[in-house]
Amino acid sequence: MHADSSPTTSPAPASFDGRPGLLDTRGRALRDLRISVTDRCNFRCTYCMPAEVFGRDFAFLPHAEVLTYEEIERLAAIAVELGVQKLRITGGEPLVRKALPDLIEMLAALRTPGGDPVDLTLTTNASALRPLAAPLADAGLNRITVSLDSLDDATFRRMNGVDFPVTRVLDGIDAAREAGLAPIKVNMVVKRGENEDSIVPMARWARDEGLVLRYIEYMDVGTTNGWRLDDVVSAADIVAAIDVEMPLEPVDPNYRGEVAGRWRYRDGSGEIGVIASVTQPFCGDCTRARLSADGKLYTCLFSAHGTDLRGPLRAGASDTDLRSILEGVWSTRTDRYSELRTSATSHLPRIEMFAVGG
Ligand code: SAM
Ligand code: SF4
Ligand code: SF4
Repeated sequence: MHADSSPTTSPAPASFDGRPGLLDTRGRALRDLRISVTDRCNFRCTYCMPAEVFGRDFAFLPHAEVLTYEEIERLAAIAVELGVQKLRITGGEPLVRKALPDLIEMLAALRTPGGDPVDLTLTTNASALRPLAAPLADAGLNRITVSLDSLDDATFRRMNGVDFPVTRVLDGIDAAREAGLAPIKVNMVVKRGENEDSIVPMARWARDEGLVLRYIEYMDVGTTNGWRLDDVVSAADIVAAIDVEMPLEPVDPNYRGEVAGRWRYRDGSGEIGVIASVTQPFCGDCTRARLSADGKLYTCLFSAHGTDLRGPLRAGASDTDLRSILEGVWSTRTDRYSELRTSATSHLPRIEMFAVGG
């Protein structure tokens, strides 16, 4: 799946986090499944789907190639049997897919082998959240993450590539809060020269609003965003910028595999997260698999190839057959791209972010 071909030298440990479940060659459990429900999006964020590349004539997946909700539910149920505890709906922009609450209702009914419900969450640009927040919450969505890169309208309009006003995203966040989706997390990708000025204002706003803000280092996902290491604002620089104005101290992770480094305000007024996938890779604890809208399973955000599940699914494979495909893929997984990243690796072929959903 991935550029790493180095041999595994030590035997994998018997358990990752004290719970039973499938382990990969590096002893990492399968705990999270990110499900992309569409590759389409109404935004053209400069770091994800630059408008120059994804123009009017760009060919997105035809409808027939996208998994149906029934197909998604069947694969998710098998993943949950194998140890997945958290399902995240993503895209493209997941809210552009019709009748999304129907899928949420189906997934909310899944139970882990221990009989617990799964943690069900969704990542969205929130442009269409106002009318959907309540139906999604009613259908069983537990939490939501909203992507927002600046509160400054001009900066936000430029970064989303379609001149979308920030007030409508803020209104979407209000709708999520009114619907009881809590805690609300906010993801901010920081890109040098585009929105560093927004780091501190976003921190202040999120703290005042009681939102969990997570800064994300700009990543070399996909092949179209023209990524350069110079455009990455490091987690250390992000934390330092905030610390000057609002002093911070580190916090221990909530659980093994948590990707965001946690920092809290020394005055007890809240905390932030920083996802430092470029400067402090966390592949050793990566428990995520990704299902693309057309039914391919990817075990790394930077994979060039996925394993087709839609083909077998539509050819009549049994749950046992599908389960053994998933087990085979995860148990042979070697991925650790971020640990191996160099300026040369950013030119390797790989899946686009909007196709696997981050
Ligand atoms: N459209 C939805 C949204 O934007 O929230 C869901 C899909 S989007 C691909 C998921 C997340 O990936 C977003 O939070 C986005 O900011 C992040 N993302 C996209 N491209 C990125 C990049 N080059 N580096 C870091 N994060 C990126
Ligand atoms: Fe669309 Fe999300 Fe990518 Fe922005 S980050 S272009 S909203 S999929
Ligand atoms: Fe996981 Fe990212 Fe490392 Fe791939 S590069 S193994 S997705 S942490």
